[in-house]
Amino acid sequence: MNLVLLGPQASGKGTQAEKLAEKFNLAYVEMGGILRKIAHQNSSLGSKINELINIKGVLVPDKLIFQVMNDYLGRIEILKGIIFDGFPRVISQARYLEKFLTKKGQKIDLAIYLTLPRKETFKRLAGRRICEKCGKVYNLLTAPPKREGICDLCGGKLIVRPDETPEKIKRRLEEFEKQTKPLIKFYKEKGILEEVDGNQPIEVVFEDILSRLAKRGLG
Ligand code: AMP
Repeated sequence: MNLVLLGPQASGKGTQAEKLAEKFNLAYVEMGGILRKIAHQNSSLGSKINELINIKGVLVPDKLIFQVMNDYLGRIEILKGIIFDGFPRVISQARYLEKFLTKKGQKIDLAIYLTLPRKETFKRLAGRRICEKCGKVYNLLTAPPKREGICDLCGGKLIVRPDETPEKIKRRLEEFEKQTKPLIKFYKEKGILEEVDGNQPIEVVFEDILSRLAKRGLG
């Protein structure tokens, strides 16, 4: 089973992706996390990606995304399937993914669109912290670390993501509206889109997703 998670910033894609990956033994591909790791590297690709995501706060061009994806997808075993979070983000990436999976005799079985009102996005992002070292995400209101400012997993320092200043959040939300929203129509027309209300407690959202999968004979 191959799934795509769509939704605005802080709609809970990462949280739900982790839960789905665990339940169904799926490989979890989080594009933002992969790019943040590359941005940390001391290489020309690293500094290019750092400038785009952390300094400018814009989407990374397809050419680089496909390069990263080819390398990454080539290395993971598809096994029981993959859950994609943050990829595809534009129609051209969705077409690329379709081609990639077709070559392997696979397809996207379902795209799950997590909705969230804009006001809620800002509220959730205000509490979001990320481990500088391992990338684990926390929320001071809903999922705080055990020790203030310190990652439970690796002891790294928790920081505000450089692309999560109010101005950059606004730009990223606009990008979602303009560039990513068309994907909802793309998957709807293929009959493989489920829209789920992300403005509910984590477990309620998860159960909702599970029932949509069951309804379609997936999972
Ligand atoms: P995220 O953690 O999903 O919010 O991603 C962080 C940043 O990485 C985004 O704001 C983009 O700059 C970049 N990014 C992540 N995924 C993609 C993608 N599929 N295509 C282009 N840029 C991306």
